[in-house]
Amino acid sequence: MYDLIIVGGGPAGASAAVYAARKRLKTLFITEEWGGQSVVSTDIQNWIGTTSISGADLAKNLKTPRNLFSCECHATSPFRR
Ligand SMILES: Cc1cc2nc3c(=O)[nH]c(=O)nc-3n(C[C@H](O)[C@H](O)[C@H](O)COP(=O)(O)OP(=O)(O)OC[C@H]3O[C@@H](n4cnc5c(N)ncnc54)[C@H](O)[C@@H]3O)c2cc1C
Repeated sequence: MYDLIIVGGGPAGASAAVYAARKRLKTLFITEEWGGQSVVSTDIQNWIGTTSISGADLAKNLKTPRNLFSCECHATSPFRR
């Protein structure tokens, strides 16, 4: 039984995971990939606190254990058609 289920490893999903961890919610995180739409970009501008970062580096940052420590992570989605 989970308090929260997050679907999708883009910025919104990773942000939700950070706040879920702060509130110590038991969280299931379902994502097939990390970084979301902008992972293909070489230069993401004005990401909060960062002037410029590549999509690959952003995806790596989103996936850090610090962000996900209270989450059980599943790498495939049962919600895809
Ligand atoms: C080429 C490009 C360049 C960009 N550059 C910038 C920039 O410089 N600065 C900026 O601020 N913004 C930029 N953006 C916009 C930014 O990428 C988006 O605003 C941001 O990614 C939205 O984050 P999100 O988490 O809401 O959604 P998304 O990034 O869309 O993430 C959603 C995630 O959920 C997953 N998902 C969806 N459905 C399911 C399912 N059923 N099961 C499992 N997983 C699922 C998707 O695969 C995806 O990984 C850019 C976008 C693109 C495409």
